[in-house]
Amino acid sequence: MLYSLSVEGMRETTAQESRMRRKEAAEFVREAIGVEVPAEDDAAFCESLRSGEVLCRLLNVQVYRQTAQPAEALPKTYNFDNFFDGCLSVGLERDDLFHLADLDAARGHPVVNTILRLRSLWNAEREPGEVGTSGSSKSSLNMTPLRSEVSGDDCGDVKTPGFQTPGLPESLPLARASAIKNAKGRGVQAAVSVTRLMQQCTNLLNATMGSSPLSISPASAGSVSPERTVETLGPVIESVLSSLTSEYERRLLKKETELKRLRASLEQSKKAAAESLENGERVAEMKRDAEEKAAAETERAKAEAELEDVRKDRQETNARVLAKVKALKGEASEAKKICKSIKMDASLAFTAFQIELSQLQHHIEPMYAVVKDYSTIQAENARLNNEILDLKGNIRVYTRVRPPGATGSTEASIVNVDCTSDFDKDKIWLSEGSNTNFAFEKVFDESSTQEKVWNEISPFVQSALDGYNVCLFAYGQTGSGKTHTMTGNQGAERGVNTRVVEDLFRNIERSSATHDFDVSIQMLEIYNEQLRDLLDDQKKDKKLEIRGSSADAGGSGVDVPGLTVMSVSDIPEVMALMEKGHENRSIGATKMNERSSRSHSVFTINVTSSNRLNGVETHAKVNLIDLAGSERVGRSQATGERLKEAQSINKSLSALGDVIQALASKKKKHVPFRNSKLTHLLAESMSGSSKVLMLSHIAPEKDNASETVSTLRFATRVATCELGQAKKNQTNTSAKDAEIERLRSRVRKQSDENKRLSVEKRPASAVARKSAAAVPTRRPLSAANFKSSSPEKPKWS
Ligand code: ADP
Ligand code: MG
Repeated sequence: MLYSLSVEGMRETTAQESRMRRKEAAEFVREAIGVEVPAEDDAAFCESLRSGEVLCRLLNVQVYRQTAQPAEALPKTYNFDNFFDGCLSVGLERDDLFHLADLDAARGHPVVNTILRLRSLWNAEREPGEVGTSGSSKSSLNMTPLRSEVSGDDCGDVKTPGFQTPGLPESLPLARASAIKNAKGRGVQAAVSVTRLMQQCTNLLNATMGSSPLSISPASAGSVSPERTVETLGPVIESVLSSLTSEYERRLLKKETELKRLRASLEQSKKAAAESLENGERVAEMKRDAEEKAAAETERAKAEAELEDVRKDRQETNARVLAKVKALKGEASEAKKICKSIKMDASLAFTAFQIELSQLQHHIEPMYAVVKDYSTIQAENARLNNEILDLKGNIRVYTRVRPPGATGSTEASIVNVDCTSDFDKDKIWLSEGSNTNFAFEKVFDESSTQEKVWNEISPFVQSALDGYNVCLFAYGQTGSGKTHTMTGNQGAERGVNTRVVEDLFRNIERSSATHDFDVSIQMLEIYNEQLRDLLDDQKKDKKLEIRGSSADAGGSGVDVPGLTVMSVSDIPEVMALMEKGHENRSIGATKMNERSSRSHSVFTINVTSSNRLNGVETHAKVNLIDLAGSERVGRSQATGERLKEAQSINKSLSALGDVIQALASKKKKHVPFRNSKLTHLLAESMSGSSKVLMLSHIAPEKDNASETVSTLRFATRVATCELGQAKKNQTNTSAKDAEIERLRSRVRKQSDENKRLSVEKRPASAVARKSAAAVPTRRPLSAANFKSSSPEKPKWS
């Protein structure tokens, strides 16, 4: 500073000056737009201008020649940004403008300065000659009054209302557009403005100094005069303003360049944004692809991990398997060694076995020959057996003695038996009551078991399978043991009936390979010369009649119409039917025990056999008869029912004796079968090649002596029939025995011959073996080879 002012004086001067200037400004506002602005103090002054409307209107009216009244519709346009931009655009400098903070702080001086700068422009416009060489007008500045706020101004960082210029885009503020478009022109205008400003400054200084001279400090007061000061200050200010103008131009150019660059950048950004938008979907798609790819990658990685696990597992398994294989190889090697050793052992054993086999061959072949020959012998034996039976006679008499006391009698046994002789008949005699000695082919003493009795009877019964009819009579007084022998009890005490059935089915099973059998049974009883069916509950009281006549009598066989005949296939079935028959017999009689002793029980088994090999068919009947008690026979004192029973029993038993006698006598042409129901019924079974066995029973106690003698006499009479037959053939007992012995010796000779033949065969076999392979061939042994064989020796021989 070229001048120094005292502080007090400066303050006073400043306050006065400020007041004056405020008044000037207020006056200017009032003149220009008719608005009264309080100028007493800065606060009121600033407050009245705070809305910006007054200043904007002032700018519009005073600078742009607008109407003094604001447009009703444009209140928003009046704000300080627009105002400041407008000031700059009409030639004010930044330094001429106040700050909004000045208004807030009620600093009136800068505001007054701005308003007065506007007035200077106004005055310069109204008096162009006074401001030097500018000569410019508002129209030449191409200014547009402040009207409205421009939105979307993106040309710079300062958001400023524009002074719109016709022909330019609305989005571009007027001030900026003018600056860009007329940069160079404006540089010139600026220079003019600066010159004008300088002029105004000079004027102002001169006016100030004229009206209110500055108090100059003593240091400078004498060195510089006021004329000198104006002369000196003018060029300086001009110089400063000139440099300011240059700077202003430079900055404008820089801004222009910057603006261009920003525009280009903006275009590029827009383009890039458009491209980005266009590529959006592609990018999204790529993103999806990428995600899918990533997912697939993850899956692949997972699969690879699993594969790796599997690989590891496989490797471990392989390792284990290899180890196991190794171990197994070791074991196999061991096993191989063992095998080798076993093989050697086996080879040795095989050699030994071959040797043994060849040795066995020496034994087996003769045995086979013997077996083969045995079949022949067996067939021959059967033939001889029948021949012997024929010679001995088809009617046999055995006697069985019951144990004493079995019926409750305390009497001692008076029966003596001698059956020690192998060749003679068994003998039986009484100690008391009779001096007669009786002899029978077989006598079973009191100790004889059921099995022993059966063993003697069985060959006789087995003839049925060869097609012979068989009749087995149990004869004797009541209580002598007939039912015990025929029916018996359970287990070892079972009687002949049961054993016959068992034996029959056993033989059927043995022959089942070659024979077919058909078996049926029937059961009846004969009481008072009447037949009763025991196998049918409904018929048990129905009277049955015998039809037809015996074959011997020229008839075609007897038949009992309506009698139940049950076909059976196994032992239990027969047992059940037998049980039923016994029950019916007992139920049918009120006094069973008595009646059973007064009736004949007939159990018949019909056997039909068919040989599948040769087609031969045989029919046979086995009659197992439990006769009525023989004690009634001969009693004449009985009366009524008992007499009738006695007569019936007497009749039938006598008839039986007569028939047997007649059968034994070949001379007798007529056999009186029809004399009783019993013989009539058994006519077919007893005629022809039938085999009859009478098993007489003895009660050994003393009180039964007379009945015992009677039984033994009857048995002897029947047995005599045999003698009769012998007589008829002119043979006697010794001659018969001699014949039997002859046959036995034939069998023995045959056997010896067989053995001899077997021994002779041996060398030939040995020769054959030598030429044969290592393992000798032989005919296999099987059950079939033994089929026709029977281990039992014939009992009758
Ligand atoms: P029958 O039928 O001739 O009238 P039983 O067979 O009913 O005579 O025999 C009479 C009794 O004597 C029965 O109690 C029977 O058990 C018994 N008995 C018969 N024979 C024998 C025997 N050999 N051993 C044991 N007891 C017998
Ligand atoms: Mg009896």
